[in-house]
Order: sequence, then C-alpha cells, then structure tokens
Amino acid sequence: MGKVYLVGAGPGDPELLTLKAARILKSANVVLHDALVTEGILAMVGSHALLIDVGKRVGDRRISQPAILRLLVEFATSAGTVVRLKGGDPLIFGRAAEEMVALRAAGVEFEIVPGITAAVAASAQARIPLTDRQSSSAVVFLTAQQASGKGAAQIKHFSSSGATLAIYMPGGHYREIAGKLIAAGRSPHTPCLIVSNASRPGQELQWTEVGELRRLSPPETPALLIIGEVARRSEAIAYLTPRLLDASWIGPEAVI
Ligand code: SAH
Repeated sequence: MGKVYLVGAGPGDPELLTLKAARILKSANVVLHDALVTEGILAMVGSHALLIDVGKRVGDRRISQPAILRLLVEFATSAGTVVRLKGGDPLIFGRAAEEMVALRAAGVEFEIVPGITAAVAASAQARIPLTDRQSSSAVVFLTAQQASGKGAAQIKHFSSSGATLAIYMPGGHYREIAGKLIAAGRSPHTPCLIVSNASRPGQELQWTEVGELRRLSPPETPALLIIGEVARRSEAIAYLTPRLLDASWIGPEAVI
C-alpha cells in the first residue's frame, strides 16, 4: 500500500512552494493536479512520474470529484507515492475533507503538506497587511458563494465585525457582494483590492472601493477580492508613517 500526500502548490510562483512539497514532488510516482497549478511547479515533478490534470475540462465537463477519489485510492494501492497537488493550501476551499474521508475509509495512509493560500500571497504581492492593530484585528476567508447568496447572514455578521474579508472565487458576484456589504452597514468607501494571478504571470492589482465594485470590468482569473481598511495602496497607509518617522532604532543613515 502506498501513501497519498495532499500537497499545497501555493499561488503559482515555484519559489513559494515548501521544501517538503518540492522533495515529495520529485519522488512521486503519480501526481494528480488541479488546473491552477503552474507549469513551473509541474516542471519539478520527477520525469518518471505519471502526471494527471484532474482540473482539466473534457469538453465542458471536468473529471468528477468521485472519480478523483477513486483514482487516489486506486493509485495509492498500486503505485506507491501519490500526490494530490492543489493550488494554494489544500485545506482552504480545496475539497480536501472529502478526499481525507475517502482515504481514511479505504485505509490509505495520507499526509498534508500546507501551501501558501491565495489571500496571503495576494496581500504580499500588494504589500498590504491582512490585519492591522488600528483597523482590523481579524481576517475572514470566504467564498463568493457564502458572500453573495446563501451566506447573506454570514456576510452581515462579518461586515459588522470590521474584519478584513478575503473573498475567494468572486467570479461574477462583485455586484451582489457590494450590495450585501452596503446593506450590512459597511461604507461604500471601504477600500477593496482585487488581485488577479497573484505571483503568476499576468499578475494584476486593481484598487477600488465597495461602492465601485458594481461597475468593475471583470478581472482575469484566478482573482481574489480583499475588503477592508487594510486594502489601501501601501503608499497610502498613513498609519505606518508616524511609527517609521519616529523610529530612532532605524539610525541616522537609514533611507526611508
Ligand atoms: N486552495 C486554494 C483556493 C482554491 S479556490 C488556496 O488556498 O489558495 C480557487 C480560488 O482561489 C480562485 O478562484 C481564486 O479566488 C483564489 N486563487 C487561487 N490562486 C490564486 C492566485 N494566484 N491569485 C489570485 N487568486 C487566486
């Protein structure tokens, strides 16, 4: 019996992969990967390995989740080291729970290798914090599904908390999200940032505010929407300035 690794590929830049993920990719016999995983990371897979794109559309259909579960269990039984490679972190909006249940039920040993999730990568690329002592003491990871339709009550709750919202898979829901936030009492001037292709070729940052989300031209995907006081251009983050200017520890020769 082999072993399955649920591995986070991070946001795209191969250098943002963990050393552990890189080592396991090199030794894997089979790698089942999502559409979001970049070429640079797939190039790290050993040349002997069988590489299967389970995120690929066949016609307009994807390989179903039950079929992926079957493949994982079958390969684990027959092929040794199997990697299920997912964009970002495997445990964040990654359907990992179903895979873990199936592996456990089949008696297959498995291990999770975390990855840098899109919200963390996006904030790093934009050079904004996700939390800030003055304005946001929490960050909430949401999907647009929760944010727009089904989770109306949730978004209301999160909006009033003042937490930074990191909305995954915003898709075509920008208008609804803006409506829900404003209805929940969040100011239309609340800063927003959309990061497309964080750390991948074609990265784009779009700075706007909640009230403007309705007029947004659809960004390239994958895209992530960050909402909250922290989502201002880093040059405009005034609260950092006084601390830096007062900071005697920087020394007289420091260039700010
Ligand atoms: N497990 C992944 C999320 C999978 S859901 C993670 O932890 O990041 C897929 C969504 O993630 C996309 O629709 C998009 O909202 C976000 N995403 C993933 N990679 C991204 C990237 N490089 N740039 C921006 N958003 C990204």
